[in-house]
Amino acid sequence: MQALKDALRQAEQHGVAIGHFNVSDIVLLKAVFAAAQELKVPVIVGASEGERASMGVRQIAALVKSIRDEFDFPIFLNADHTHSRASAEEAARAGFDSIVFDLSALPFEENVRKTKEAVVALKSIHPSMLVEGEIGDIGSGSEIHETMPDRSRGLTTPEEARQFVKETGVDILAPAVGNMHGMSKSMVQGETKKRLNIERIAAIKKAAAVPLTLHGGSGTDDDDFRRAIAAGINIVHINTELRVAWRRSLEASLAAKPDEVVPYKIFPPVVESIKEVVASRLTLFNNSALVAQEHSAV
Ligand SMILES: [Zn+2]
Repeated sequence: MQALKDALRQAEQHGVAIGHFNVSDIVLLKAVFAAAQELKVPVIVGASEGERASMGVRQIAALVKSIRDEFDFPIFLNADHTHSRASAEEAARAGFDSIVFDLSALPFEENVRKTKEAVVALKSIHPSMLVEGEIGDIGSGSEIHETMPDRSRGLTTPEEARQFVKETGVDILAPAVGNMHGMSKSMVQGETKKRLNIERIAAIKKAAAVPLTLHGGSGTDDDDFRRAIAAGINIVHINTELRVAWRRSLEASLAAKPDEVVPYKIFPPVVESIKEVVASRLTLFNNSALVAQEHSAV
């Protein structure tokens, strides 16, 4: 079975990005896997500390592993935004493929020192687990916000990126390049889009020379996604768009069947709606590889 490290190398070679989708229940997990399976592209399932608390750390690890084994499919599990060593080590022991060890709220030097210690500790528990570090401010909640702050300032600098990667030994870097967690109400309506600083992504890539993750992808302009991937983004996180689809489709399904109490009769349209969102994002992120796949199939 392919390791996440190999899938990332392949993504880099093909100029595509691996989609990362957060889950907090089995409805979301089924939808994410169904979309990836249909498109035949690798996928990363993410679970933050809150999402892991909802599903159970070992339980989500067992579910994802069961899919990977049964279908021999490159589905990976990431411990998203982990703020403490204890919870990072718990994820390492549970066999997560990667972790976002996020001390970005701390001053830079402290972030460097503590991330470096975590890399050593986590690899001693689970040697093949990839550790992602984060610098810069990309907000916190994957929720709907009234308005979004201006993210064109306070971007990660190439020099910080180079120094952080060199000193901490992280495998993957999450920079601040205009991205932000959550969506504004106008983004949910599709009236406005997040815009990324493509030149900065390219400069950070050159300086850091490791795979880069774009967090807070929900609501980003499609063309900016394409250019960001071409400039060196290898993983794109989508969460809020799935949560919006989850809620809206659940409300619609309940409204369509007001007397239904059987969960497995209520959830199929919800899985289908979330799957459509995931599939459209995976198609965008993997565009060049999917075109090649189509050609080789002919
Ligand atoms: Zn994130």
